[in-house]
Amino acid sequence: MPQQHSGLLLRRHSAGSGNQISPNCHKSAVSVPYAEFLFPIAGVVLQDSLPELHQLELLLRHAPAPVSAEILAMVNAGEQQFPLYAVAVGKPAAGKPVLLLTGGIHGLERIGTQVLLAYLESLCSRLRWDLQFAELFERVQLYILPLLNPGGMLRGWRSNARHVDLMRNAPQDCTEGAAFLVGGQRYSKFLPWYRGHPGQFETESRVLCDFVRQRLFQAPFSLVLDCHSGFGQTDRLWFPYAKSSTQPIAHLAQMHRLRELLFQTYPHQNYIFEPQCRHYLCHGDLWDYLFDQSLLAQHLMLPLTLEMGSWNWVRKNPFQLLRSHGLFHPVKPHRVKRVLRSHLILFEFLLQAAAAHVHWLPTVDSRNAMEANDLWYNR
Ligand SMILES: [Zn+2]
Repeated sequence: MPQQHSGLLLRRHSAGSGNQISPNCHKSAVSVPYAEFLFPIAGVVLQDSLPELHQLELLLRHAPAPVSAEILAMVNAGEQQFPLYAVAVGKPAAGKPVLLLTGGIHGLERIGTQVLLAYLESLCSRLRWDLQFAELFERVQLYILPLLNPGGMLRGWRSNARHVDLMRNAPQDCTEGAAFLVGGQRYSKFLPWYRGHPGQFETESRVLCDFVRQRLFQAPFSLVLDCHSGFGQTDRLWFPYAKSSTQPIAHLAQMHRLRELLFQTYPHQNYIFEPQCRHYLCHGDLWDYLFDQSLLAQHLMLPLTLEMGSWNWVRKNPFQLLRSHGLFHPVKPHRVKRVLRSHLILFEFLLQAAAAHVHWLPTVDSRNAMEANDLWYNR
């Protein structure tokens, strides 16, 4: 049953089989304070252990319309359970394009969740006074899944609480020589980049895939940005495939046009825009898998991964390597603030680009296809 909460619609949702919310959760929902409402089984309040989750809940508690949220599933992490939140801005409607922002799928990369929370905070504030901005959500549907791996983030692991690297968990293999270990492995769950059992989705992966199928594939067009950190010195925008360096995606022309649009609209931006395969190949990438699924559904989806250039933070402050998440997260407060504000323009651009997709997407465009091949594949 939906729970109305300070203008925010919170409802529990079962995203597929095997993911039922305990009846105890529902019973507790009407009788305990807010934080315990979310963690009725463990009775855990996470202010000290998972501040990102606490921050998200505070934001949602005071979020204005048309922001709503739901819990897609609860995931187990040892004795505890954590919610996987989906935030929606706008009401879904036939014919509406979608922007999906995701983060925190690698638990070590907390900054991915934090940039999305910074955007959500800014967005909630703006919705209260900027009527033009509020009207935008009548033309575009925004979803944010800011914390997809709370169990891993709690432990400070890249993987989830079951040791599975969710970005190696999709049921497809690279046949061109995936990078040793880092490309995904099934030797042991005690080594990093473990793929999990063959053909078995982890709860977090399955929830994400179900969500994309159910909410995006019905739309006429969708853009996705999945926020990560930990690679290189420059912020990068990667697109599929991670499984092949010889096979371009079917929508290469559209992806090239999106790059062109970004670079023309913001000529002084600093992103490198490229296919992931230019750096390494891997098995089981969820965006490779979902992109292929979108083709089967005849849906036009352009998925991007934001790889924030964390090596730059390490170069400026080598001592942060002494911390467990030091390779993946800025430590100095001024550097965190800089990162939190530096991607807001990108999020805004993607929102406007999704809303106005009919005005820039190429229909039959051999120029973009040729330029894309020259830029990324014919070397
Ligand atoms: Zn990552």
